[in-house]
Amino acid sequence: MNTVIRNGRIIDPANQRDEIGDLFIVGGKIADGSQLSTFNSQPDEIDASNLIVAPGLIDLHVHLREPGFGWKETIETGARAAAAGGFTTIVCMPNTLPAADTPGTIAWIRDRAAEVACVNVLPSGAISKGLMGEELAPIGSLKQAGVVAITDDGRCIQNNELMRRAVEYARMVGVPVLDHCQDYNLVGNGVVHEGYWSTLLGLPGWPSIGEEAIVMRNILLADCCDHAVHCQHISAAGSVRLLREARGRGVKISGEVCPHHIALTDDAIQNFDTNCKMNPPLRAKEDVTALLEGIADGTIEILCSDHAPHAQFEKEVEFDAAPFGIVGLETQLGLFLDLLVDKHKTIELPRLIEMFTVNPARLLQIEAGTLSVGRAADITFIDPDLEWTVDAQNFQSMSRNTPFDGWNLKGRAVRTIVGGKTVYPV
Ligand SMILES: [Zn+2]
Repeated sequence: MNTVIRNGRIIDPANQRDEIGDLFIVGGKIADGSQLSTFNSQPDEIDASNLIVAPGLIDLHVHLREPGFGWKETIETGARAAAAGGFTTIVCMPNTLPAADTPGTIAWIRDRAAEVACVNVLPSGAISKGLMGEELAPIGSLKQAGVVAITDDGRCIQNNELMRRAVEYARMVGVPVLDHCQDYNLVGNGVVHEGYWSTLLGLPGWPSIGEEAIVMRNILLADCCDHAVHCQHISAAGSVRLLREARGRGVKISGEVCPHHIALTDDAIQNFDTNCKMNPPLRAKEDVTALLEGIADGTIEILCSDHAPHAQFEKEVEFDAAPFGIVGLETQLGLFLDLLVDKHKTIELPRLIEMFTVNPARLLQIEAGTLSVGRAADITFIDPDLEWTVDAQNFQSMSRNTPFDGWNLKGRAVRTIVGGKTVYPV
């Protein structure tokens, strides 16, 4: 099927394109207009007036929970949530059961995704066997099996020598290393940001230095091994300062920010709402300010959700015992548009699209995130002015653990196309 998308504002940061125009799809790929005439049938037309037409968005930090935790989310439902949120490519984390630490499990995930997922699902592989932080996983075979990155996300390798070897192997086989930055000795059993609210509520504190110490370790390793290390879900002001300094002298270090870390601060936990319990935790106002500055000056160049579904019965327990994390695929674009572009005016729309397309694609070295002729027709239509209310009961995700239910947001994805086919709305 051939399609013409008419009169949209086409924003394609990879090609420095920002103009009102038409976009053509022939045979599931982006085409130039002349290719349409080689077909006899009349193409479908989509009116994109007053909409942004962007390359399909990429979220490089998603928990799809399969294999092993199918009551929280499946590859099928997670992919539908991605499509509803405007995402055409997602990278799933390896903390499944079994952990994604062998080529067999990676093959299973890819086969399952090919069968049931309506968006592109790219697996990441574990750094260490069983995410135990003791022995390296077979990084070369994982790469051959198709992983786009390695990470122990959810856990963090404490042994710096082991992590150094991981970064060296990753460099040899050509995959980036993503890291969940948490020093176990400094953090202990912390569940909320160590500060005013942890003291007042008597909850164990998760200090900023527990993240900063590992960000510093990763900077040293990226520098020493001359290879890309990417710090996941950065939450603390000190981490932004460390990244800024290291990137300024050319170290291959990067960081990502999730919407909850700029939308909320640790005062949100005062009612012991377990949907405000995440790892790393919601932090103080100064941290939010520093994250916004880091996004504004390019220190932070990637945004993501850390979509972490949990069933209601798992979150309906006392704060200490509840699992960390919230769902994010269906709220993140709206939150970032609302907060970064509309409210705080931290960045403009093309920059936000860049942070969800060409920047993650470059880190992962994947062929996605542009509207160049010949690429797969993965396209996200965004209405930046649409005002809407988050309704968790309507999520495509199997889980509803969000602190944003009922929030009024401005801007969202209104149509998602993968390989030339509309996957949202369906
Ligand atoms: Zn994590």
